[in-house]
Amino acid sequence: MTAPTPLIAGNWKMNGLAASLDEAKAVAAGLGKVAGRVVLCPPATLIDRISQALAGSAVLVGGQDCSPEEAGAFTGDVSAAMLADAGAKLVIVGHSERRAGHGETDEIVAAKARAAVRRRLEPIICVGESLEQRQAGDALKVVTGQVRGSLPRELGGKAFAVAYEPVWAIGTGLTPTTPEIEEIHRAIRATLVEMFGDDGARVPILYGGSVKPSNAGEILHAAEVGGALVGGASLKAADFLGIVGAL
Ligand code: PEP
Repeated sequence: MTAPTPLIAGNWKMNGLAASLDEAKAVAAGLGKVAGRVVLCPPATLIDRISQALAGSAVLVGGQDCSPEEAGAFTGDVSAAMLADAGAKLVIVGHSERRAGHGETDEIVAAKARAAVRRRLEPIICVGESLEQRQAGDALKVVTGQVRGSLPRELGGKAFAVAYEPVWAIGTGLTPTTPEIEEIHRAIRATLVEMFGDDGARVPILYGGSVKPSNAGEILHAAEVGGALVGGASLKAADFLGIVGAL
């Protein structure tokens, strides 16, 4: 069975202006030989410019969200086709900040993942439990339920990734222990294989939540961890490169 190719994704969230192009260029310039793929997900306003600036480099560009709709009267939304047209190759869907702040259910996330693959974008589908759910002993059940509900059948045979991001670890400096990460990643793997057969064994399962250069080595080498989704530490090229270098 081929092991999944690791993926390190930087999620800039709602950060970045024209001046941030230099940070993206510094990532591309500082990237040595990497045992995986690297993607930066800037705000939609910068995708076109960063894609052009990084053309020919090993750094891919991705979106942070996409509409489940193809086109039309959806003011403020950005479609998968628009992201692809601007140069994106991947797109994050179902980030907990969208699930919590924009009422995105598993069904909506699945529709977004479907829209992404229709336009040949590789979705990174986020799942993760809240602190209350973990404390109640429900983390495994919640996460595997989200995987089942947020990953549409149409992903079969397509490239995609799953990101396990415990909500309580995002932007807090807290991380689960390595055995806790491995327990959830193994359960996600089993669910993926159940849903997609052998293809499910090749899907990278990223960990996300307070990854930084100092903890990246241990996290990235944990069982069934196939990369990282990085928020805060992706805003500075040096930090992001430090994480990539730990692969
Ligand atoms: C994220 O928002 O996906 C994330 C993992 O953030 P941070 O690395 O800042 O915790």
